[in-house]
Amino acid sequence: MTIIATWKMALNGTKLAREALIKGTPLEEALITLIKDVEMNEDFHSVGYSGLPNEDGVVECDAAIMNGDNLHFGAVAGLRSMKSAVSVAYTLIDNEYNNFLVGEGALKHAKEMGFKEEEMLTDEAKKRWLEERAKKPKVYKGHDTVCGLIAEEGRVVAATSTSGLFMKKVGRVGDSPLVGPGLYADSEVGAAAATGVGEDIIKGTLSYAIVSLMAGGLSPQDAATKAVMDLDAKLRAKGEEPRDFSVIAVNKDGAWGAATNIAEFPFIVSEENGETAMYIARDFGREIEKIK
Ligand code: ASP
Repeated sequence: MTIIATWKMALNGTKLAREALIKGTPLEEALITLIKDVEMNEDFHSVGYSGLPNEDGVVECDAAIMNGDNLHFGAVAGLRSMKSAVSVAYTLIDNEYNNFLVGEGALKHAKEMGFKEEEMLTDEAKKRWLEERAKKPKVYKGHDTVCGLIAEEGRVVAATSTSGLFMKKVGRVGDSPLVGPGLYADSEVGAAAATGVGEDIIKGTLSYAIVSLMAGGLSPQDAATKAVMDLDAKLRAKGEEPRDFSVIAVNKDGAWGAATNIAEFPFIVSEENGETAMYIARDFGREIEKIK
């Protein structure tokens, strides 16, 4: 069994997912446990409840989950008033149609499924919004996505959840709910997921690119490093300054990798031997340091 997840905020959720897997909880549900732990935590300001709002001061969340066995996926974008967007996405995963719902439709569906509407904006997030609103021009700081991947006995699943870019335009959707850029899972190969500025991640269809490289024979680490380096180089070659992006990857046998184009990308890994630890990727993932 391997669980890998983005950012330090996923540490507790990864431990909970591990316990769930040991008790025999299905992979998808264990992964929801991980993501939901971050969504519900008031101290994490880029995901779910207490997420950072859009330019109108409203928290709009994007999330998705994908099952690598059958490529089924559920996704929501621009979802308001729901603390766990990934739980709503999960209700869509085995639909034949209507796997990806946005805005009003996603909210209507969530309510029909029995999810309660809740206030998402905490006092602290509102204070940050008021401070940011007073500044010009806007810089899109204060984002991050919780992404989780699980590989167990030849199966892989992937999930993401985020409130997206702080001060984004109303209705803006990033990579996180998009199968291809934000996440991808195929149990014949492995899974990958991305965090960072969605507008760049989408340009490289980054998660699918990593799974394709693994299908071609690369290890998760080599695939992650190559995909991030290639996208960074391609953007530069086209005269663009690449924004931040970081990725995690796992193959169906549980080998893992991570890469980034920023100075340091912390992520969490829980492995078969029972250890759950934080690591930091540097230099496009060519340096991986274990922290604790
Ligand atoms: N990928 C997210 C988005 O663009 C944000 C992030 O992961 O930092 O909405």
